[in-house]
Formats: sequence, structure tokens, C-alpha cells
Amino acid sequence: MEKISVAVRFRPPNPAAADPSPGGAGGGGDREWRIDDTRVTLVHRAAGPAPGAPFVFDHVFDRTATNERVYGTVVRDLIGAVVDGFNATAFAYGQTSSGKTFTMNGSDVDPGIIPRAVRDVFDTVRQTDDREFLVRVSYMEIYNEEINDLLTLEGRRLPIKENLERGVYVAGLREEIVNSAEQVIESSAKNQIDSEDPIRVSVLNLVDLAGSERNNKTGTEGVRLNEAGHINKSLLMLGNVINKLSESGKQRGHIPYRDSKLTRILQPALGGNAKTSIICTAAPEEMHIEETRGTLKFASRAKCVSNCAQVNEILTDAALLKRQKREIEELRKKLQGSHSEGLEQVVLKLRNDMHKSELERDRLAMELEEERKLRIEQQKKIEGLDNTSISADQFTDSTQLDALKTPDSKYIPDGFVAHRSRYSNDVEFSPLPENLDNIANDDLWTCLNKGCVTDLDMLEMTPGLKREASLLQDATSIALLQEKLQPIARCNIVEASYSQSLLNRNMGAAPLEEPTDARCQRLEKDCVSDRQQLEESNVRCAALEKERDLLRDENSSLQQEISDSKREANLLIAEKQARLDDSIARCVAVERELSVSRQDADRLAAEKQELAGELGVERQKMEELKQDIRVISRAFSQREGQLTSLYTKSKAILENCKASHVATLP
Ligand code: ADP
Ligand code: MG
Repeated sequence: MEKISVAVRFRPPNPAAADPSPGGAGGGGDREWRIDDTRVTLVHRAAGPAPGAPFVFDHVFDRTATNERVYGTVVRDLIGAVVDGFNATAFAYGQTSSGKTFTMNGSDVDPGIIPRAVRDVFDTVRQTDDREFLVRVSYMEIYNEEINDLLTLEGRRLPIKENLERGVYVAGLREEIVNSAEQVIESSAKNQIDSEDPIRVSVLNLVDLAGSERNNKTGTEGVRLNEAGHINKSLLMLGNVINKLSESGKQRGHIPYRDSKLTRILQPALGGNAKTSIICTAAPEEMHIEETRGTLKFASRAKCVSNCAQVNEILTDAALLKRQKREIEELRKKLQGSHSEGLEQVVLKLRNDMHKSELERDRLAMELEEERKLRIEQQKKIEGLDNTSISADQFTDSTQLDALKTPDSKYIPDGFVAHRSRYSNDVEFSPLPENLDNIANDDLWTCLNKGCVTDLDMLEMTPGLKREASLLQDATSIALLQEKLQPIARCNIVEASYSQSLLNRNMGAAPLEEPTDARCQRLEKDCVSDRQQLEESNVRCAALEKERDLLRDENSSLQQEISDSKREANLLIAEKQARLDDSIARCVAVERELSVSRQDADRLAAEKQELAGELGVERQKMEELKQDIRVISRAFSQREGQLTSLYTKSKAILENCKASHVATLP
């Protein structure tokens, strides 16, 4: 959509009225029009601007503006558009003697819009290398609501018609093909001007309106008055159409284009398929203030009208066929190519994403399961711990109790024994016997260590105490030790560490006793820390479960997306297929029509040949007849000669007889 371009042009004042003031249109009198860039305001010379807002337009020209400037500002761009295939219209509107004809036709010194536009059309055509042009011109007048062709005397009262291809047009209007004139331009791409290329047809209307006479001012009467009435009707209808078009969409309703020939012909230019420039001409004199105000109001409303111009292409059957074939090919390519490929890629990606998230979900489920197992295990351990709290009453033999008493060692929570390379040769001060098999087998150690490997430095040792070999051979002690170690070995690392201390003690270290209460407290502390760990794992578990739920949601939304994409892809494919089928059907129909036309053409050619043969025969017969006629006429003229001489002879004989008869009379 693009707005109509509207300019206002004030002509120079009549010499009598001329009284130029700076910035004024120079009409003389108390009031005058003031021009300020693109604004026009009515001012009282004495008191400044008269009430009322200024009129604002795309361009305002004062008396000094030449036709060249007006054309360059308002019309030149239209010519390029026309050559490109757009319709365009330029017309002048204004009261009588305001300068419409001067603007449209101009003078020898300063040609107006029409001659300049014509020249530019041909210049632009010449500069356009890639197309060929056919320029046709027509010339008409609208007089008393009748359209007359000005190029031929026969073309009077021509009707206005409309069809899809040409839009609104005057039927029967003569169009002359010209090499240097105006109005109609057709073009097609150069080097390919076979019948398969679209032809661009554009119309350039250049209109010089007759002014609205003020009957009381001009004193017209009779036929002239009637004529003026028609002119006024045209202009009134033009005003009405512009009024309606300038209203906003909802109030607009019916546009009365059909109320006059002028508005009907200008229909494409007014809110239709054309680029339009209107030059509103105005007289500056004070006596014309009311008409000028009317013209400015018309111009203001015209400024609100939008047109929708587009390139006009005409397709021949062959061009249509070619274009459809191209379309089908493109559709086919699209179907096989990038678009469906793109969709497939999207589907593949979504599938991949889904697969990944499924894997992630499985992994999380496994982690969750492990976590759950760990938690259960820990729960069991805690329960076991609660159950294994040892009290002194359990032991009948005090040596047994002694064996369990805590050695004088510092508690190391995580430390444990396994790595003893550095101590293997230090027999005297090793905290452990050379051969542990004598005390506990590998399984027991593994069990005790819970698979944990720790440096011996981590162990709390009682230095300087000599190992008593005899004790190691004490089978009862070992058995007891093993018996006491077994239940503890099932517990956690803390217990194992404690066992180590116990071992140390049994190996002859000075028994350092830990009071039962302290031990209970320690165990309780362990319990609390375990519980804490358990709670932490619970929290982690909950977080993992949440994450799993989120992933599950994401997964289902991805699946939804995939099925949506699939549905969309199917719809697209179906649509493309339908269009393809449609185009193919159209192609087939056009091809069928073409073949029918070809058959018709062949048949006509055969008929023509037959007729030509017949014509030849007829011609020959005619020749023979002519010959006969010639022979007959020759015979006829011979006979005529004979008859004439016979007649002459008979007449002479008769004369002689008459004479002899008279002589023989008495
Ligand atoms: P209209 O066609 O509107 O009735 P015309 O174009 O015939 O008016 O103009 C009336 C008179 O004013 C003519 O003599 C014309 O030469 C003169 N005229 C109009 N406009 C201008 C202008 N811009 N500069 C000089 N003379 C002008
Ligand atoms: Mg005129």
C-alpha cells in the first residue's frame, strides 16, 4: 500500500492583482495564502494567520516553480515505474484558469508534464537493455459524460468495460503504435521473445481536467451551461470518490466510481492498482479564496488515499504451461530436497535427543537404585551397630573382657592396615607379626579392611614395645580373638580400626582400657554421623528422583514434539502432493487443449489446402469461361460487323428501291 502523492501549485497572480509580499502567494487584497515549505495558510495581511489549521502536503510550489521542477519532483519517478510494468496516473485538479492546462501541457519554452513524460518514457525505454517495448498511444476526451476518441472520428460515445486482464478500459478506443509518443507501454524480456514469456502491460494516464466553472462568475447559459453542469458533475463525483476513499475502513462502504465516466476511468488510479500523483492548481487572488480553499480540502483528503500498485503481467497459454511446469519441478525438488530433508533432520535430532534422555533416565534410575541399596545397607549397619553394643555382663571370663578392652591409642576414624611394605623387615618394632596368616587369614583381613587399603603410617602404634612370640602361639588367644573379631568385622571401618587396636593389645601391648560408657558414647556419635550420612543420601535420593521426573516430563514433551512434527510433515507432504496433483492436472488439461488446438489448426490447414485446390479449379474454370467469353465476343463482333454491313446494304437497296419507285410513279 502506498499513499497518493499530492502537490499544490499556485500560479502567478494576474498582473492587476499582483501585490507580492514575502512568503505570500501574491494574490493582493486583505487576505492571502502564505506558503511555508510544505504548508499553506490563509493570513490576514494586517492581523496574521486567519483561524484554521494550515494545510500540509507532500510538496507545495509557489509562483516561481517551473514545469520542469514540478515534473521532476512529482512525476519523474512514475515513468520508471511504468516502464517496470506498473500503472501510473498524473492529473491536475483545480478551478478554471488555475493553471491545469499550463501544468499538463505547458508552453514551448517550458513544456508541461505530458510532453516531458513522453520524452522520459522513450529515454527510459532506450536505456532498458534487457526488455523490448511496444508503445501504444490513445487520446480521448470526456465531454458531457460521453467518451470520444480524439484519434478517429468514428470513435464516439465509447463504453467503459472491465475485465480481469485489462482492468477498467474504454472499449474500442484506438491505440496507435508509436515510436516517439505516449501512454501505453508493453514489454517482454529480450532475446526470449517467444510466446512463453510473460508480457508486462502498464498504462500511463495523463489527464487534463476541465475546470469547474462558477456559472455566476462566468455568466454561461444554454448549451454551455449544460456542458458546465457535466464538467461539474465529473469533478463533484471525483470529490465524492476521494471523500469516501479518505474515510477510515469501517465507515467507507461503497465507493461511487460508477457515478461518472471520469471516476470510472480513473478507478485504478484512485485506491487501486496504480501509482498516482495529483497536482492541485490554485489561483492566488483574493476573489478565488473560497475555490482555493475547496481545492486545498480536496487535496488534503486525496493525501489520505492509499493505492496498491503491482506489476501487470499477461501470460499466454504456452507461458502459463511453462510456468506451471517450472512450479511443478520446484515443488518436486522441494519435496525430495531440502525441505523434507530438513524435516527428516529435525525428526532425527528429536529422536536422538529422546534416545539420549532415555539413556540418562536409565542411568539415573540405576544410580537411584544403588543409592537406595546403599541406604538400606547403611540402615542395616546402624541397626547392627545398635545391636552390637558390648556390655561387660556378656563376658564370664575377665580375660575375654580384657581382650576386648581398648588399647591406649588415639582413635583414627578412617585409618586402616594393609600396606606394610615399609615394615616387613623391621621385625623388632613391627606392630604386626611377620606372618599374619597365623592370626587371621586373608579373607578375614579383607573383611576387616572392607577392601580398604591404607598406609601403615595411618595406624596408631605403641612404639618400643617388644613383640612376644609366645603369645602368637597361644591358640586359645587366637581362637578367642577370631571369635571376638568376627561380629565386629561385619561392622564398618570404625569397628575394624578398633579391632586393630585390639589386635595390638593381644600382641602384648600394654592394655589401655576404654571405659564402656565412653565407648557407648563414641558408638552413639558414630551412629549420629551415620544417620546424618543417611539423611544426606535421602536428600540426594530425593533430588535424583526429582531430576528423573523432570527428565521423564522432558522425554514425554519431546515425544509429543516428534509426533507433532511428524503430523506436520505428513500434512505438508499431503499439501504439496495435492498441489503437485493439481498442477499436473492443470498441465494435462492445458496440454490437452493445446493438442486440440493443434488438431484444429491441422484440420483448418487441410481445409485451407482443399479450398485452395478448389479455388485453383474455379480459377481455371473462370479462365476457360473468360476464353469462351472472348471467343464469343469475337464471334459476336464479327457477326455484328456482318449484320452492320448487311444492314447498310439492305438500307442502300431500300433507298434504291424507294428512288426507283418514286421515279416510276406518274
Ligand atoms: P486551466 O487549465 O486550469 O483552466 P490554464 O492552464 O489555462 O488554466 O491557465 C490560465 C492562464 O494562466 C493561462 O494563460 C496560463 O498561461 C496562465 N498560467 C497558469 N499557470 C501558470 C504558471 N504557473 N505560470 C505562468 N502562467 C500560468
Ligand atoms: Mg485548461
